[in-house]
Amino acid sequence: ASSRTPLMAGNWKMNLNHQEAVVLTQKLAFTLSDKKHDYAKAEVVVLPPFTDLRSVQTLVDGDRLSLKYGAQDVSEHDAGAYTGEISASMLAKLGCSYVVVGHSERRQYHGETDAVVNTKAHKALAAGMTPIVCVGEGLEIRQAGTHVPHCVEQVVGSLAGFTAEQVGGLVIAYEPVWAIGTGEVATPDDAQEVCAAIRAWVRETHGDAAADAVRIQYGGSVKASNVAGIMAQPDVDGCLVGGASLQVDEFGGICRFY
Ligand code: PEP
Repeated sequence: ASSRTPLMAGNWKMNLNHQEAVVLTQKLAFTLSDKKHDYAKAEVVVLPPFTDLRSVQTLVDGDRLSLKYGAQDVSEHDAGAYTGEISASMLAKLGCSYVVVGHSERRQYHGETDAVVNTKAHKALAAGMTPIVCVGEGLEIRQAGTHVPHCVEQVVGSLAGFTAEQVGGLVIAYEPVWAIGTGEVATPDDAQEVCAAIRAWVRETHGDAAADAVRIQYGGSVKASNVAGIMAQPDVDGCLVGGASLQVDEFGGICRFY
């Protein structure tokens, strides 16, 4: 067993009105405070839309909630004439602990390349937040059987320029695009195969300490009913959860993965 703390992160995407976001945060905190279960085994993070971060911050700080929060994206620029963008320092000032970079929906709909993802990851880390760097193959690549080199190549590009110590502190999320929001979950073996290959690359290029410390999540149609098999894999250190994170019972169940 590894000493890595599992990380369960709920990506709300562009969902929930403001009141629903506040209610979900409160209900989740209530669930996590239930002493019948050992929720402290995982670090639990919510990733609301930007417009809800201030309210989530108020709830978390005011009630000393045991959950953390972060953003779904960040600008690759520091400040200036970038209409509509949100900078890393703005997110850090809102108390964000994590920032997702390179989610497949950003790569697909907004043309984000590994170079862009890499810049965003550096901005997040420089501002004191932990990037959750997403990689993953589409269906065609999976069918061609080249998913492992594809994902490792995305990791190589997305993590360029980080020191071994920095890499050890990052989170990498393996999210096969064909499993995101489709209800089609990768098998535990599929998840393990790619997560192991990513860790092997980290070991080769950045050494044992970084490889043993870096947390690698699986994402793609994770639910309370399928989380245990995925989390039983030695190189899977948590889950990045979309749809199921909008339902407190489902996400609570995911946080009780053990
Ligand atoms: C995601 O978007 O990161 C994700 C994994 O979505 P879902 O859980 O809905 O497949």
